[in-house]
Amino acid sequence: PLAILALRDETDVRRMELMRVDFLANASHELRTPLASLSGFIETLKGHARDDAVARDRFLDIMATQAERMSRLVADLLSLSRIELNEHIPPSGRVDLARAASDVVDAVSVLSQERGVVVTLQSDGGKINIDGDRDEIIQVIQNLVDNGIKYSAPGQSVEIVIRRDLHIDAAPGPRTDGLTRLPLLTPDREAGVLYAAVTVRDHGPGIAREHLPRLTERFYRVEGQKSGGERPGTGLGLAIVKHIVNRHRGGLTVVSAPGEGAAFSAYFPMSPIRSETSDAI
Ligand code: ADP
Repeated sequence: PLAILALRDETDVRRMELMRVDFLANASHELRTPLASLSGFIETLKGHARDDAVARDRFLDIMATQAERMSRLVADLLSLSRIELNEHIPPSGRVDLARAASDVVDAVSVLSQERGVVVTLQSDGGKINIDGDRDEIIQVIQNLVDNGIKYSAPGQSVEIVIRRDLHIDAAPGPRTDGLTRLPLLTPDREAGVLYAAVTVRDHGPGIAREHLPRLTERFYRVEGQKSGGERPGTGLGLAIVKHIVNRHRGGLTVVSAPGEGAAFSAYFPMSPIRSETSDAI
């Protein structure tokens, strides 16, 4: 048994090593593309575009976009590695999910207005406390809402719904709309634990079934999907969401089909004390 154990560990180490190499290769590749474009434009600006004010302005705009893309990538990569580093440490602190969602609505208000997308928030009005890291919970909601806005057309809405006191093992059952709910992360079921959920629903293009299980892979993007052009993603947003939810011992599901929009739900175990009274203690 000892030998088998050692062998398994070695395979695990090797697998981790491969994942790390793969991750670094992907990350370098993703950074190299905007970097190459920046270098190209710098060369052009130093050369023949120097005296052409119109071309110069256009190139500088493109360069600014590429630089923004690089900083988004670096920020996402840093978040991901920080979260993975802490993933085995249970988060301390208490977060009101409803308040966190309302903070996200405020934070995205400029972006949603620019895009002509209305973001709504629905909850029962009370506090819905979970044990967690406030910044990380906000990042989960923010990443889901950012995607919702990104894949919506002007005039469409993104709806955030917060629910409490859910049993996660309540059988999903057939949905009235005929779509299936796909689990992207299933929590360890602990007896008697109630969950609070945040669902972010959009009415954008939706996602074909074959892509759903891979959405939380790092750098995974659905090919040929329009995302409003000017805000291309990094492919890291949902990977970050999954790691944070996992650290909080929660779950993640998606319901989507082409033409049906998308609804992502993150579930978190509720703090044991009843949410409404917890502050009074
Ligand atoms: P990105 O930064 O590219 O949005 P994510 O990890 O957040 O990365 O998402 C991965 C991919 O999943 C996206 O590139 C997109 O193809 C698809 N996706 C995510 N959210 C939605 C959504 N709300 N509607 C349609 N497609 C989505």
